[in-house]
Amino acid sequence: MFDVVIVGGGPAGLTAATYVRRAGKSALVIEKDGFGGQIAWSPRVENYPGFVSVSGAELGDKLLNQAMEQGADVELEEVSEIMGQPGHRLIKCLSGAEFEAKAVIIAAGAKPRMLGLENEEALVGNGVCFCALCDGIFYKDKPVAVAGGGNSALQDAMLLSENCSKVYLIHRRDSFRGELKLVEALRKKENVEFILNSTITALNGDSELRSLLLKTPSGERELNVEGLFVAIGHKPDIGAFSPLMVLDTEGYANSDENCTTISPDIFVAGDCRRKKVHQLTTAVADGTSAALAACEYIDSL
Ligand code: NAP
Repeated sequence: MFDVVIVGGGPAGLTAATYVRRAGKSALVIEKDGFGGQIAWSPRVENYPGFVSVSGAELGDKLLNQAMEQGADVELEEVSEIMGQPGHRLIKCLSGAEFEAKAVIIAAGAKPRMLGLENEEALVGNGVCFCALCDGIFYKDKPVAVAGGGNSALQDAMLLSENCSKVYLIHRRDSFRGELKLVEALRKKENVEFILNSTITALNGDSELRSLLLKTPSGERELNVEGLFVAIGHKPDIGAFSPLMVLDTEGYANSDENCTTISPDIFVAGDCRRKKVHQLTTAVADGTSAALAACEYIDSL
C-alpha cells in the first residue's frame, strides 16, 4: 500500500509527489495522458520564478525528474474510481490495475472547454484543434482561426502566425483578457487579423472544416479557414471523483487553503480546485499544501 496516491501528473501532482517523498512517505503519481499537464503544451513559460524563459515541455520534464529522483513511483493509467474507506482506499484504473493508498491527492487538472457548436465534436482532429503547439504544423501555409481572448489564445495565434498563411483571432469582447505585451506583438504581425466583438455561430464542413460563420457587429461573415484552434479556457476534469468531494456549480472542487475536502483522506490540488487564480505557480503551491496535509493525516492514523 502507498502512503499517498496522486491522481494527475501535472505541476500540482508532481510537486505533491516531491513533498510527500521528502516527508519520508511513499508516493505514486498516476497520469492518464502525459506527465507535465497543460503546461507541456505551452511553447514558452516566462512567469515561473527562477526561469526567465523555458519551454513548458522542458519544465514538465524537470518536475517529473525531480519527483522521480526523490523516489516517487509513476504509472501511466487512467483512474476510473476511488473506493474504500478513509485511510484505506482502493484506486481502480480503466485497464484493471488497482492501487491501495492511505491518502489520495486529486490533481486531475482541467480539460479544454468547447464552443458548444453543433458539429464541433465531429470535427475534432479534422479542423477543430485545441493545441497549436501539437497540431499547428498541419496547417502550414493555410488560413486558420483562433477563438478566445486569454493568454492561451494569444500564444496560439502567435505560434500559428509563424507558419500559417493567415491567422484570424476571434474574440467575443473588444478587449483581451491576456497580457498586453502579447496583444501588441500580435498587432505587429501582418498575417494576423483581430475580429473582435464577434462569436462563431457555425462550423461548415462535413468530414473536414471548410469555413466558419461569424456574428460580427456589422453582420454575418463567413471565414474560409482550414483550422480552428479553440482556446477558450478549461473546465475541471474531476468527473469520476465527484462523490468524494463537494463541487461548485462550475464543477470545481471546494476545499480550504490546506486543500482538504469533505473526506479526511482526500485532498485536491491545482486547476481542478476552486480558487481565484489558476496559474502554474498556484498549482505548485497547492501541490505543496496538499502533500503536507496528506502526510499530517497519515501521521494521525
Ligand atoms: P482564460 O484566461 O480563462 O481565457 C479564456 C478566454 O476565452 C477568455 O478571453 C474568454 O472570454 C473566452 N471564452 C470563454 N468562453 C467562451 C465562449 N463560450 N465563447 C467564446 N469565448 C469564450 O483561459 P486561458 O487563455 O486558457 O488561460 C488560462 C490560465 O492559464 C490563465 O490564467 C492564463 O494567464 C494562464 N496561461 C499562462 C500561460 C503562460 O505562459 N504562463 C500560457 C497560457 C495560459 P472573456 O474574456 O470574454 O471571458
